[in-house]
Formats: sequence, C-alpha cells, structure tokens
Amino acid sequence: MKTLVVIPCLQHKYTFSAPLAWMFSRHVDCVEGIYSFSLDKETVQKYDSFIVELNWFIELYEFQLIAQFIKKYNPRARILFGGLYSQLKYKEVFQHAPVDYFIKGDNEVPIQQFVEGVDPRKIPNMVGRDFENPQTYAFQQEDYPSLEFNLDWFPDFAKYWPDFPHPGVDIAVDFSRMPLYPKYWEKPGRDLPPQFEWRIPPRGGRYHLPMLITSRGACLAAHETCDYCMGSRHELSQAIYKRPPLVIDNETCILLLKKIEKKFKQATLFINGPFIYDFSNEHFDLEATIEIDGPSTAQDVAKILPAFRDARVHTAIYAEGDLGTKIREDLDQYDALEDESHKIYFFAFPEDAANYHISESRRLYAELVLPDWTDWNFYNDWDKAMGRSRRWYFSTRQDNFYPPPRKIITRIVQFIFTYVAYVLQRLKIIDLKEKFVL
Ligand code: SF4
Repeated sequence: MKTLVVIPCLQHKYTFSAPLAWMFSRHVDCVEGIYSFSLDKETVQKYDSFIVELNWFIELYEFQLIAQFIKKYNPRARILFGGLYSQLKYKEVFQHAPVDYFIKGDNEVPIQQFVEGVDPRKIPNMVGRDFENPQTYAFQQEDYPSLEFNLDWFPDFAKYWPDFPHPGVDIAVDFSRMPLYPKYWEKPGRDLPPQFEWRIPPRGGRYHLPMLITSRGACLAAHETCDYCMGSRHELSQAIYKRPPLVIDNETCILLLKKIEKKFKQATLFINGPFIYDFSNEHFDLEATIEIDGPSTAQDVAKILPAFRDARVHTAIYAEGDLGTKIREDLDQYDALEDESHKIYFFAFPEDAANYHISESRRLYAELVLPDWTDWNFYNDWDKAMGRSRRWYFSTRQDNFYPPPRKIITRIVQFIFTYVAYVLQRLKIIDLKEKFVL
C-alpha cells in the first residue's frame, strides 16, 4: 500500500521544505505526493497511510482541515505529520487535529521505516497517541554525502510555475494597486497582469527544490538582530534534535550539487552558516537561487556565482547588525560579478535602499518579507498562529475541504473581501491591507 504525502497549498516562493527532495528518494515506488488543493474524497479513499506536512505555522489551519478531511472520508487512515513547525508544537497538534503519529527530531530513517510499513511502535523517535519511543536516531555529519535527490513521487512539483511571471522579470510593482489578496498560486483562468499577482515582487530567484541548507538544526549565521527567527534559538534546536547543528563542508556541497545537476535543472543553495565555499574550478549545469544569510564579501560571492549556469544571489544589506557591513563597504565590486545570467539582489529596507543607492531593480523588499508574524514570539503562541493561518488560508481561496453550505458562505465572504474591500481600500476609506496581508 502506498503512502500519500500531502503538501498544504501555501505555495508562494518561500514555502517548500528542503527535505522533501531527499526524504523519499529511495522509496519513490511506495510514495505519492499531492498538493492539498487537489485532495478529494476519492483520492483519500485510495490510501490508508498519509504523511501531512506542517512545516510553516502559516499552514496550521489548513493542516487541521486536511487531517479532518482525511479522517472523515477514510476513518481507518493513519496520519503521520511532520515539518519544522510541528517540531515546536506537536503536543498541541495531537490535541487539536485527528492525527496519529509524529517523529521527534531528525526523521530520515524513521520516515523510511514508516513508508515501508514497519510497526510505528518499533520506529525510533516515533510518538503516537499512547506511546513515545526513545529518540535514538539523529542525522550525522557523515550522512550528508549519501543524500540522494528525487521528486518523481511528486509529479505536480513546480508544474504550476510556468504560469506565473519568472521572478527574474523586472516588473514595476505598484503596491497601492495590488488586490487585497494577490494571486499566489491561483486557480487558472484569471489573467491578472503580472504586477498585480504577487504581494512580494517576483524579483530575484525562486526557492527551488532541491534546496541545500548549509547549516542544519540551527542557523549558524545568526547575529544580534536575529532574535525573531527560530534559527537563532540554538538551545531550542538542541533540545529538539538532540545534537549540535551540522554544517555542509565545501567538498560535500560540491558533491551534492553534482548529484542534483544530474537530475534537476534548478536548485537552491541557502548559506546560513560560515561562508566556507569555493567553487572556483567547478561548473554546475543548474539555474540556482543562492541566499547568503551570514556575513560575506564580494570576493566570497565571486568564488561561487560563476560556477552555476545561471544564478541569482540574495543577500542582505541592512544597516543594523553586521550582516551587511562588508557588503556596504564593497558595494561597487558586486556590479562586476554580474552578467546576463548572474545577478545579485539585496534585501533592503527603504532607508537602506536610499542610503546605499540600491536600485529598485535589484532590491528585495525586506519590509514585505519580514512582517510581524514571522517573529518566533508570534507563532510560538498557538492561538495567534492559528488565527493568522486561518486568514492566510482564506486568502488562498481554496475551499475543497468545506461542505457545500460553507463553500457558498466562504465564496460570498471572499467576494466581499476581494472586490468590495479592495475598492474601499483604493478609496482610502479602510486600510485592511496591513491587517490582512502584511
Ligand atoms: S541569519 Fe536569517 S535564518 Fe539565520 S537566524 Fe538570522 S534571520 Fe534566521
């Protein structure tokens, strides 16, 4: 019997979890993947075993709906859930959603055993409603080279991307004219002009899978202004994973990128640890998005950028903290690293853009990617997280988990919010944008 992996439909460019690209590589024949907006009664009844992702808190409400929907149409189903946010709140999830199993800490080996049909009571790190196995499995540094990347089990992954403007296109975005609920991965058929489709301008690169995150288990690029981010909570991470953070070394990073290029055309490299990478003698036939979250220099970027067939670097130039210090000193040198296929973008607040002369075409809007709800103190509060995720789900306009009467009511409310409130917003009679979108 195959296992169905359900991915909530929160699909804007930041949403995929990196392990999806390797977690089931050795089990592509016993796993299938589906976006939750495609889940229906008939599909649910075809499987007895489900894995539902809860990686970001913003998926919380939708996650609950998915679990309820599965159990409603298939009461025998067994549901394993997992992902970053569930590591933080798995006890609350058990209380609020009809789920059966969870894996504490690292889950590569336990999840493979689950899809192979091993009794969950015999799987390390596994938690059920009436048992909790010892957390004896942890991913090790020496496990990195053995990672294999395969998304064949998830045929819809990236299928919808060509319908949307490529993030590299330079679109002048007029925020005052964007709909209250912009189009994320909307239903086909609504041809909004591209500048109205995205809350965050489609600039820079997409966060493709496979994604290599160079520091695992905590962010080793954390600095003094990172308090809001879970990546900076090293004690918490240590308690969850029962091991120190792990860093991919240069040699292993090259090895993994070479594996990725054999099967994929695109990838993401997320450097959230020390900058120890030098790909000077390498070439990767990949379109890459590279995010550098720690201190780095133009010389550092020069060591990795040309190695990719096509690449977009995202890094931050904030005035606060030490992250952008070297960048601000060397700003002119970044221009020389660019050509048609290699571009560099900077996360910048409006004052940074003005002070350091960052042009609009290479500015990533820091104020839009860091609203208050991305703060750990916010989403660590279950009620706040649930409330915000409910509103977010509403903005996706999915209603496939609702019974017909609720669907009708939801569509009426969505119409009011999408059109009536939008007009009131445009007339400056109300200001809902900050409350509901940012
Ligand atoms: S550098 Fe970025 S990912 Fe790392 S702790 Fe700070 S905000 Fe989080």
